[in-house]
Amino acid sequence: MNLKRLLITFDYELFLGKQSGLALDCCINPTNKILRVLDDYNLKGIFFVDITYLLFLQDNVHKSEVLKKDYQLIREQLINLYQRNHYIFPHFHPHWKDAVLVNNNTEFSLTELKHYRFHSLKTEEQSILWERAVQFLNDLLDTESKPYWLFGYRAGGFGIKPFDDFYEYFKKYDVKADFSVLPNVDRSYVFDNIIYGENIPNRPFRFSQSVDVEDLSGEFIEFPISNVSFNNIDLILSKISNKFEYKLKQNQIPKGFSAVNNPPKTSKPKPRISFKEPASIELLNRVKLYKYKRFIDENDYMHFISHPKMIAEFNLTSFTKFINYASQKYVLQTDLFEFEQSHK
Ligand SMILES: [Zn+2]
Repeated sequence: MNLKRLLITFDYELFLGKQSGLALDCCINPTNKILRVLDDYNLKGIFFVDITYLLFLQDNVHKSEVLKKDYQLIREQLINLYQRNHYIFPHFHPHWKDAVLVNNNTEFSLTELKHYRFHSLKTEEQSILWERAVQFLNDLLDTESKPYWLFGYRAGGFGIKPFDDFYEYFKKYDVKADFSVLPNVDRSYVFDNIIYGENIPNRPFRFSQSVDVEDLSGEFIEFPISNVSFNNIDLILSKISNKFEYKLKQNQIPKGFSAVNNPPKTSKPKPRISFKEPASIELLNRVKLYKYKRFIDENDYMHFISHPKMIAEFNLTSFTKFINYASQKYVLQTDLFEFEQSHK
């Protein structure tokens, strides 16, 4: 049977705009649902944990019982994930720096976006953030006991460019791999109009100074996120299907607001006959399923990016169908450790 490399990655975080939502709804409960699917098929997940949130939580934990409880539950869940050999890697949303507590100290508001990008922090702040983040993970996870062959990172809002600002920290903390590059990205997904190079291959590749330029002797590995293509009919049917699904009670997702993103208005958008979007559990539904199946049939590598807070029951049902299809047809390699073995 053919081998397919499937990266099932998650940004483990709250909503990052004017209302954050609650830890239980956005992280704990949806992650537990996802875990059931991963366990059923013996798959590994890669969790990019918003450490900027956890550090803010740590600093404010004494302010309410809810925050105290959240902090404890999140720590327990991360330890549990790690012990079950899922991957826990850092993810930063530096605008947590300006977050404020709301709703009786149970939720957060993150409307100040001047520090949205890591690059906007002062060098000293960048350095403290990395130091605290790595310390946090080491204290929590007993990383000594497991050889972490590949320490990965994903930048908030896909903002890994320019890589110069990260280089020093990747070296210092032995970060070997980046997971932030979304090829053919639609501008509405990114802050500050970060655009990646056009000919990014759908497979892992080595890089040195630029995350989107392959360098065979590069010291880091880029795992680009995969894009699935749809035509206009797919999108129309998909919208109708989602409208119907979201009306059903079990398909509600938690309340929260994302960071506002206003891409500059360019001239009239060109009408498109095909549309690419990242492979993602929360974007998957019964209409798009056939394109996901076709994608795995035609590619040996598929990198999903999902957010537990956005995944409704019907998304997970379609994802399970996809996994069921793929696992009957192929050997699915989801463990980075196995990736490395096959690289040797
Ligand atoms: Zn994020």
